[in-house]
Amino acid sequence: MEEFDYYEILQVERSADGDTIKKAYRKMALKYHPDRNPDDKDSEEMFKKVNEAYQVLSDNEKRQIYDRYGKRGLESSGFSSGGMEDIFDVFNSFFGGGFGGFGGGRKQGKQSKYAKDLAQELELSFHEAVFGCKKEIEISYKVACKDCRGSGAKEGKTTTCKACGGSGRETFSQGFMTFAQTCSKCQGSGEEISEKCPSCQGKGYAYEKEKFEVNIPEGVDSGNQIRISKRGNIAEDGTRGDLYLEVDVKEDEHFIRHHNDVYLEVPVFFTLVMLGGVIKIPSLTKELDLKIPVGVKDKQQFVFHGEGIKSVNGSKRGNFIAVIKIIYPEKLDENQQKLLEELHNSFGYESSKPISAFEGLMDKIKKWFK
Ligand SMILES: [Zn+2]
Ligand SMILES: [Zn+2]
Repeated sequence: MEEFDYYEILQVERSADGDTIKKAYRKMALKYHPDRNPDDKDSEEMFKKVNEAYQVLSDNEKRQIYDRYGKRGLESSGFSSGGMEDIFDVFNSFFGGGFGGFGGGRKQGKQSKYAKDLAQELELSFHEAVFGCKKEIEISYKVACKDCRGSGAKEGKTTTCKACGGSGRETFSQGFMTFAQTCSKCQGSGEEISEKCPSCQGKGYAYEKEKFEVNIPEGVDSGNQIRISKRGNIAEDGTRGDLYLEVDVKEDEHFIRHHNDVYLEVPVFFTLVMLGGVIKIPSLTKELDLKIPVGVKDKQQFVFHGEGIKSVNGSKRGNFIAVIKIIYPEKLDENQQKLLEELHNSFGYESSKPISAFEGLMDKIKKWFK
């Protein structure tokens, strides 16, 4: 990942105080917000950086770690810079999702205490990912607490939020401008809980377990996301979100995957390098004949077109690539030693003398050290 300095991104001094950082962030975040710069990748990148910078510099603990140890220090202290969703969280908690046109400034109404969509990691073996499979999935999903109907309040009783008077929004003025942001007391619901629901301890949900089978398509790879419709959390109104399976494919002992191409290291004995020949190698589905040309090089690659992995979003297949690894015997017996010497001498070399091609080079090297 590209390195950038948080202070430079926000255009503030390293000694800047909290208010200065806040002001700088406000200016930069609005300037680069994706809503203001639709389809502009550079602005989106800047927006991410600005938010990441603010996330760190607005937090005393994170800022101190960053000042002393940099970004690495943050990572090793367990703070990650997060994805785009987190980044919008930063923006929304700062601007309350209600600022001038982004999010519309509407009352958010009854807000759920949890997201409807659910994400879970799915570990697959190389074989399962390459050929597809049926997989049993076990999930824990959230269901709105029956006793409080998801409100988290005892018997579902809530009162109007005193901080915002039930509007779900707070307004404040700065100069001639008035800003609105989500009420920090009630998080926009406009309601306040006087007594927590005893069944769910005020969380508003309970967990349920579920097992089911999923068809994993041929060709999935690490980083792919498989969406399973209506297997997420269940909201208080009974609607159900989706489940996102984040695929993580384990490495194979022999085959190395790169996108839809597969690499296989093929050991070639040193005598075969000069004799050449055809050897049988295993591909994903069958045996292939690999023709070793005389004088083959170590790490030389031979491509079998279309013998790789089927693309998960089409019928095109990747390639299968054999990579030569020349191997040598660890020991020679007496007879082999004799044969090899005979072979060596038959080429007219005298092993005790340096090979004539190096003579000039030796003189040159000697001159360097004079
Ligand atoms: Zn409850
Ligand atoms: Zn409120």
